[in-house]
Amino acid sequence: MLDIQAIREDFPILSHQVYGKPLVYLDNGATTQKPRCVVQKIENGYYNVNANIHRGVHFLSQEATEAHEEARKAVQHFLNARSSNEIVFTRGTTESINLVASSFTDECMSAGDEVIVSVMEHHSNIVPWQIQAAKKGISLRVIPMNEKGELRLDEYKKLFTEKTRLVAVTHVSNVLGTVNPVKEIIAIAHEQGVPVLIDGAQSTPHLKVDVQDLDAEFYVFSGHKIYGPTGIGVLYGKEEWLDRLPPYQGGGEMIASVTFEKTVFNELPFKFEAGTPDYIGSTALAEALHYVEHIGMERIAAYEQELLQYATERLNAINGMRIFGQAAEKGAVISFLVGNIHHYDMGMLLDHLGIAVRTGHHCAQPLMQALGIEGCVRASLSFYNTKEEIEVLAAGIERVKKMF
Ligand code: PMP
Repeated sequence: MLDIQAIREDFPILSHQVYGKPLVYLDNGATTQKPRCVVQKIENGYYNVNANIHRGVHFLSQEATEAHEEARKAVQHFLNARSSNEIVFTRGTTESINLVASSFTDECMSAGDEVIVSVMEHHSNIVPWQIQAAKKGISLRVIPMNEKGELRLDEYKKLFTEKTRLVAVTHVSNVLGTVNPVKEIIAIAHEQGVPVLIDGAQSTPHLKVDVQDLDAEFYVFSGHKIYGPTGIGVLYGKEEWLDRLPPYQGGGEMIASVTFEKTVFNELPFKFEAGTPDYIGSTALAEALHYVEHIGMERIAAYEQELLQYATERLNAINGMRIFGQAAEKGAVISFLVGNIHHYDMGMLLDHLGIAVRTGHHCAQPLMQALGIEGCVRASLSFYNTKEEIEVLAAGIERVKKMF
């Protein structure tokens, strides 16, 4: 059992009020709140350990470098990567996918080649490939889903051709909550000799991820969705793949030597970290990872499942409720519409009751199209949410219904 009240005390913002009502924060899929230890790490970093890393001989620079490299090891441990050389710090999931899209396309794809994505991808795992498609003449093939919001693996298998170069799929859908069977998806791709990128933006905060067990070539996530700071994220890549890919950006740190005639790139992971990295952000991300690991990813997952079940039952009992995403394996996300109430109206009125939910297309317009809707309301849960907050949400929805 988790001591939720004690956990909530670690997150000062959760005791705020909005419009004179206690804040009920149910927009964790967009970003999570930060525990004190993460904010303290940032403050301590700037007050006591701040110096540019990897360059200085002086004490502070060495200390800051060590902290950044320790943070890399913390991420390695969190993902169970083989080596810390396989961990590249980026600005987040979006930058990590853009990096792979750009470098992988440069190295491994030519006109006519294909990338397989799924119908439930976030725009950040669609648009980077389309940008490359326009430049290089590659194309996207799309895995469809069934009526429960589960990917059709039978159809997936049919998408492979001799032109398939990569599969890029989300681990957990930010709208449907579907936990995709990525281990199986990866194994199927490997049978065809095709590498796989997994978007872990919505999985890493909620379930234990082991990149060696999954056998993914690339796995990406964002710090801010896992209780860490904004502006820092991770690209995990198998060493042989990162070695093979060309750099994404040029600049300081990513070189071994430079002359006007020839530049030799640095070794991994620095080859992909041009310029001054967010070395304060990396240490704060490591702190966030320690925080969730201390609670235990399995305990977090179990409690969030209990909350999800409670919320699903509670919301399903509301007349006119339509929940999108009924996958057997589902994360703590509920996307819904009620009767013909517009999602913006629902979101705005809930907001005035102190309840923060997301409305709109959730950066997944192709998925909205597949569902035949323009947008919906999304309540996304965290281990710091409570059943009482679910009650407030359910009562809030009933109240909004009465106004229409
Ligand atoms: N993929 C998924 C599944 C997401 O939910 C998000 C964030 N909503 C992203 C990618 C993009 O993450 P970021 O904005 O942190 O780069």
